[in-house]
Amino acid sequence: MVHFVGAGPGAADLITVRGQRLLSEADVVIYAGSLVNPKLLESVKAGCRIYNSARMTLEEVTAAMELAESGGLTTVRLHTGDPSIYGAVREQMDILDEKGIPYDSCPGVSSFCGAAAALNLEYTLPGVSQSVVITRTEGRTLVPERESVQAFAGHGATMVLFLSAGLLERLTAQLLAGGYREDTPAAIVYKATWPEEQTHICTVGTLKGTAEKNGITKTALILVGDVVLHGSYERSKLYHPEFTTAFRAGKKGVEGH
Ligand code: SAH
Repeated sequence: MVHFVGAGPGAADLITVRGQRLLSEADVVIYAGSLVNPKLLESVKAGCRIYNSARMTLEEVTAAMELAESGGLTTVRLHTGDPSIYGAVREQMDILDEKGIPYDSCPGVSSFCGAAAALNLEYTLPGVSQSVVITRTEGRTLVPERESVQAFAGHGATMVLFLSAGLLERLTAQLLAGGYREDTPAAIVYKATWPEEQTHICTVGTLKGTAEKNGITKTALILVGDVVLHGSYERSKLYHPEFTTAFRAGKKGVEGH
Protein backbone atom coordinates (compact mmCIF):
# COMPACT_ATOMS: atom_id res chain seq x y z
CA MET A 1 0.00 0.00 0.00
CA VAL A 2 1.20 3.49 -0.84
CA HIS A 3 -0.01 6.55 1.06
CA PHE A 4 0.38 9.92 -0.66
CA VAL A 5 0.77 12.35 2.24
CA GLY A 6 0.85 16.13 2.32
CA ALA A 7 3.76 17.26 4.48
CA GLY A 8 2.43 20.79 4.94
CA PRO A 9 4.12 24.03 3.92
CA GLY A 10 7.31 23.77 5.96
CA ALA A 11 7.03 23.83 9.75
CA ALA A 12 7.29 20.21 10.86
CA ASP A 13 4.26 20.49 13.16
CA LEU A 14 1.99 21.51 10.28
CA ILE A 15 1.63 17.97 8.97
CA THR A 16 -1.80 16.52 9.84
CA VAL A 17 -2.24 14.10 12.73
CA ARG A 18 -3.11 11.40 10.20
CA GLY A 19 -0.08 12.20 8.06
CA GLN A 20 2.18 12.03 11.11
CA ARG A 21 0.77 8.62 12.05
CA LEU A 22 1.19 7.23 8.53
CA LEU A 23 4.76 8.53 8.50
CA SER A 24 5.57 6.91 11.85
CA GLU A 25 4.19 3.57 10.62
CA ALA A 26 5.85 3.53 7.18
CA ASP A 27 8.47 1.00 6.13
CA VAL A 28 9.55 3.15 3.19
CA VAL A 29 9.38 6.94 2.83
CA ILE A 30 9.92 8.74 -0.47
CA TYR A 31 10.04 12.47 0.24
CA ALA A 32 10.29 15.51 -2.00
CA GLY A 33 13.66 16.66 -0.70
CA SER A 34 13.55 20.07 -2.32
CA LEU A 35 10.71 21.38 -0.13
CA VAL A 36 9.78 18.88 2.58
CA ASN A 37 11.21 19.71 6.01
CA PRO A 38 13.81 17.02 6.83
CA LYS A 39 12.77 17.30 10.50
CA LEU A 40 9.71 15.23 9.57
CA LEU A 41 11.99 12.28 8.89
CA GLU A 42 13.01 12.20 12.55
CA SER A 43 9.70 10.55 13.39
CA VAL A 44 10.03 7.51 11.12
CA LYS A 45 10.49 4.09 12.73
CA ALA A 46 13.88 2.40 13.03
CA GLY A 47 14.90 0.64 9.84
CA CYS A 48 12.63 2.72 7.62
CA ARG A 49 14.10 3.06 4.13
CA ILE A 50 14.23 6.70 3.00
CA TYR A 51 14.48 7.99 -0.57
CA ASN A 52 14.84 11.62 -1.66
CA SER A 53 12.77 12.03 -4.82
CA ALA A 54 14.55 15.27 -5.75
CA ARG A 55 17.23 13.09 -7.31
CA MET A 56 14.88 10.50 -8.84
CA THR A 57 12.80 10.16 -12.01
CA LEU A 58 9.12 9.16 -12.03
CA GLU A 59 10.20 5.66 -13.11
CA GLU A 60 12.66 5.37 -10.21
CA VAL A 61 10.05 6.56 -7.73
CA THR A 62 7.45 4.06 -8.87
CA ALA A 63 10.08 1.28 -9.05
CA ALA A 64 10.89 1.96 -5.38
CA MET A 65 7.18 1.72 -4.57
CA GLU A 66 6.90 -1.54 -6.50
CA LEU A 67 9.89 -3.02 -4.71
CA ALA A 68 8.37 -2.11 -1.34
CA GLU A 69 4.99 -3.53 -2.34
CA SER A 70 6.54 -6.83 -3.46
CA GLY A 71 8.00 -7.17 0.04
CA GLY A 72 4.64 -6.44 1.66
CA LEU A 73 5.89 -3.06 2.92
CA THR A 74 4.00 0.18 3.39
CA THR A 75 5.24 3.28 1.58
CA VAL A 76 4.59 6.93 2.38
CA ARG A 77 5.10 9.28 -0.55
CA LEU A 78 5.62 12.60 1.18
CA HIS A 79 4.79 15.65 -0.90
CA THR A 80 5.18 19.30 0.03
CA GLY A 81 2.07 21.26 1.01
CA ASP A 82 -0.98 19.46 -0.31
CA PRO A 83 -0.29 16.77 -2.92
CA SER A 84 -3.12 17.94 -5.18
CA ILE A 85 -1.51 21.31 -5.98
CA TYR A 86 1.35 21.01 -8.50
CA GLY A 87 2.23 17.71 -6.86
CA ALA A 88 2.72 15.53 -9.96
CA VAL A 89 0.82 12.79 -8.13
CA ARG A 90 -1.60 11.67 -10.83
CA GLU A 91 1.20 10.33 -13.03
CA GLN A 92 2.44 8.21 -10.11
CA MET A 93 -1.08 6.97 -9.40
CA ASP A 94 -1.61 5.96 -13.01
CA ILE A 95 1.53 3.82 -12.93
CA LEU A 96 0.42 2.29 -9.61
CA ASP A 97 -2.96 1.52 -11.23
CA GLU A 98 -1.17 -0.25 -14.09
CA LYS A 99 0.85 -2.29 -11.61
CA GLY A 100 -2.18 -3.05 -9.44
CA ILE A 101 -0.65 -1.38 -6.36
CA PRO A 102 -3.26 0.15 -4.01
CA TYR A 103 -2.87 3.71 -2.73
CA ASP A 104 -4.73 6.48 -0.95
CA SER A 105 -4.19 10.18 -0.20
CA CYS A 106 -3.87 12.19 2.98
CA PRO A 107 -4.26 15.94 2.47
CA GLY A 108 -1.82 18.53 3.73
CA VAL A 109 -1.77 22.24 4.47
CA SER A 110 -0.90 23.87 1.18
CA SER A 111 1.67 26.66 1.13
CA PHE A 112 -1.03 29.08 -0.03
CA CYS A 113 -2.67 28.56 3.36
CA GLY A 114 0.70 28.86 5.07
CA ALA A 115 1.28 32.15 3.25
CA ALA A 116 -2.09 33.53 4.36
CA ALA A 117 -1.26 32.53 7.94
CA ALA A 118 2.11 34.27 7.69
CA LEU A 119 0.30 37.52 6.90
CA ASN A 120 -2.82 36.94 9.02
CA LEU A 121 -4.62 37.41 5.74
CA GLU A 122 -8.15 36.48 4.64
CA TYR A 123 -8.27 35.77 0.91
CA THR A 124 -12.04 36.19 0.67
CA LEU A 125 -13.02 39.54 2.18
CA PRO A 126 -16.70 40.47 1.60
CA GLY A 127 -16.99 43.39 -0.79
CA VAL A 128 -13.39 42.94 -1.98
CA SER A 129 -13.03 39.44 -3.43
CA GLN A 130 -14.88 36.20 -2.95
CA SER A 131 -12.64 34.05 -5.11
CA VAL A 132 -9.05 32.87 -5.05
CA VAL A 133 -7.35 32.04 -8.32
CA ILE A 134 -4.50 29.60 -7.83
CA THR A 135 -2.26 29.57 -10.83
CA ARG A 136 1.28 30.00 -12.12
CA THR A 137 3.15 31.90 -14.78
CA GLU A 138 4.13 29.82 -17.73
CA GLY A 139 7.66 28.49 -17.38
CA ARG A 140 8.95 25.25 -18.84
CA THR A 141 5.52 23.80 -18.09
CA LEU A 142 2.97 25.33 -20.45
CA VAL A 143 -0.24 26.91 -19.18
CA PRO A 144 -3.30 26.67 -21.46
CA GLU A 145 -3.90 30.00 -23.27
CA ARG A 146 -7.39 30.45 -21.79
CA GLU A 147 -5.84 30.18 -18.32
CA SER A 148 -3.18 32.83 -18.81
CA VAL A 149 -2.41 35.12 -15.86
CA GLN A 150 -3.70 37.94 -18.03
CA ALA A 151 -7.05 36.21 -18.54
CA PHE A 152 -7.48 35.57 -14.81
CA ALA A 153 -6.28 39.06 -13.88
CA GLY A 154 -9.30 40.40 -15.75
CA HIS A 155 -11.52 39.15 -12.90
CA GLY A 156 -9.76 41.32 -10.31
CA ALA A 157 -10.08 38.43 -7.83
CA THR A 158 -7.44 37.47 -5.30
CA MET A 159 -4.62 35.62 -7.05
CA VAL A 160 -2.02 33.25 -5.63
CA LEU A 161 0.85 32.51 -7.95
CA PHE A 162 2.91 29.40 -7.44
CA LEU A 163 6.21 28.63 -9.19
CA SER A 164 6.55 32.19 -10.45
CA ALA A 165 9.03 33.95 -8.15
CA GLY A 166 11.80 33.69 -10.75
CA LEU A 167 9.62 35.08 -13.53
CA LEU A 168 8.46 38.36 -12.04
CA GLU A 169 9.07 40.60 -15.03
CA ARG A 170 6.80 38.46 -17.17
CA LEU A 171 4.29 38.04 -14.35
CA THR A 172 4.03 41.78 -13.71
CA ALA A 173 3.48 42.51 -17.41
CA GLN A 174 0.72 39.90 -17.54
CA LEU A 175 -0.97 41.19 -14.38
CA LEU A 176 -0.96 44.75 -15.72
CA ALA A 177 -2.14 43.69 -19.18
CA GLY A 178 -5.01 41.85 -17.50
CA GLY A 179 -6.22 44.93 -15.65
CA TYR A 180 -4.54 45.10 -12.26
CA ARG A 181 -3.09 48.53 -11.43
CA GLU A 182 0.58 49.29 -10.76
CA ASP A 183 -0.51 50.08 -7.20
CA THR A 184 -2.67 46.98 -6.68
CA PRO A 185 -1.48 45.50 -3.37
CA ALA A 186 0.70 42.40 -3.64
CA ALA A 187 2.85 40.31 -1.34
CA ILE A 188 5.79 37.97 -1.63
CA VAL A 189 5.89 35.20 0.95
CA TYR A 190 9.16 33.28 1.00
CA LYS A 191 9.31 29.89 2.74
CA ALA A 192 6.03 30.38 4.57
CA THR A 193 6.05 28.73 8.03
CA TRP A 194 9.78 27.82 7.85
CA PRO A 195 12.14 29.48 10.39
CA GLU A 196 13.58 31.54 7.52
CA GLU A 197 10.15 32.78 6.38
CA GLN A 198 10.04 36.29 4.85
CA THR A 199 6.95 38.35 4.09
CA HIS A 200 7.05 41.46 1.95
CA ILE A 201 4.04 43.64 1.23
CA CYS A 202 4.47 45.57 -2.01
CA THR A 203 2.45 46.39 -5.13
CA VAL A 204 2.14 44.79 -8.54
CA GLY A 205 4.52 47.47 -9.86
CA THR A 206 7.18 46.77 -7.23
CA LEU A 207 7.09 42.95 -7.19
CA LYS A 208 10.30 42.48 -9.15
CA GLY A 209 12.30 45.12 -7.23
CA THR A 210 11.11 43.73 -3.90
CA ALA A 211 12.15 40.19 -4.80
CA GLU A 212 15.53 41.37 -6.11
CA LYS A 213 16.23 43.49 -3.04
CA ASN A 214 15.62 40.47 -0.83
CA GLY A 215 17.34 37.89 -3.04
CA ILE A 216 14.16 35.87 -3.58
CA THR A 217 14.05 33.76 -6.74
CA LYS A 218 12.25 30.60 -5.60
CA THR A 219 10.23 28.90 -2.85
CA ALA A 220 7.93 31.88 -2.68
CA LEU A 221 4.31 32.65 -3.40
CA ILE A 222 3.08 35.85 -4.96
CA LEU A 223 -0.26 37.11 -3.65
CA VAL A 224 -2.13 39.77 -5.57
CA GLY A 225 -5.27 41.73 -4.81
CA ASP A 226 -6.85 44.32 -2.53
CA VAL A 227 -7.30 41.73 0.25
CA VAL A 228 -3.57 42.11 0.94
CA LEU A 229 -4.15 45.58 2.42
CA HIS A 230 -7.69 44.91 3.66
CA GLY A 231 -8.42 48.66 3.81
CA SER A 232 -12.14 48.63 3.06
CA TYR A 233 -14.31 45.56 3.25
CA GLU A 234 -17.82 44.75 4.46
CA ARG A 235 -18.34 42.86 7.68
CA SER A 236 -19.61 39.30 7.23
CA LYS A 237 -23.34 38.61 7.13
CA LEU A 238 -22.83 35.36 9.04
CA TYR A 239 -21.83 37.07 12.28
CA HIS A 240 -24.09 40.11 11.96
CA PRO A 241 -26.60 40.49 14.85
CA GLU A 242 -29.55 40.77 12.37
CA PHE A 243 -28.62 37.71 10.34
CA THR A 244 -30.46 34.44 11.04
CA THR A 245 -28.60 31.17 10.55
CA ALA A 246 -29.38 27.54 11.31
CA PHE A 247 -27.65 28.06 14.66
CA ARG A 248 -28.72 31.55 15.74
CA ALA A 249 -31.86 33.72 15.37
CA GLY A 250 -31.09 37.23 14.16
CA LYS A 251 -32.58 40.18 16.06
CA LYS A 252 -34.10 43.01 14.02
CA GLY A 253 -32.91 46.49 14.72
CA VAL A 254 -29.65 45.46 16.38
CA GLU A 255 -26.87 47.50 14.86
CA GLY A 256 -23.55 45.91 14.13
CA HIS A 257 -20.61 48.24 14.44
N1 SAH B 1 1.99 21.09 -3.31
C1 SAH B 1 2.64 22.31 -2.89
C2 SAH B 1 3.14 23.16 -4.06
C3 SAH B 1 4.26 22.50 -4.85
S1 SAH B 1 4.83 23.48 -6.18
C4 SAH B 1 1.67 23.10 -2.00
O1 SAH B 1 0.51 22.71 -1.83
O2 SAH B 1 2.10 24.13 -1.44
C5 SAH B 1 6.21 24.29 -5.46
C6 SAH B 1 5.94 25.77 -5.30
O3 SAH B 1 5.09 25.96 -4.19
C7 SAH B 1 7.15 26.65 -5.02
O4 SAH B 1 7.79 27.03 -6.20
C8 SAH B 1 6.52 27.83 -4.35
O5 SAH B 1 5.91 28.68 -5.29
C9 SAH B 1 5.41 27.18 -3.55
N2 SAH B 1 5.81 26.86 -2.17
C10 SAH B 1 5.92 25.64 -1.61
N3 SAH B 1 6.20 25.75 -0.30
C11 SAH B 1 6.24 27.07 -0.03
C12 SAH B 1 6.43 27.84 1.17
N4 SAH B 1 6.62 27.26 2.35
N5 SAH B 1 6.37 29.18 1.06
C13 SAH B 1 6.13 29.80 -0.11
N6 SAH B 1 5.94 29.13 -1.26
C14 SAH B 1 5.99 27.79 -1.22
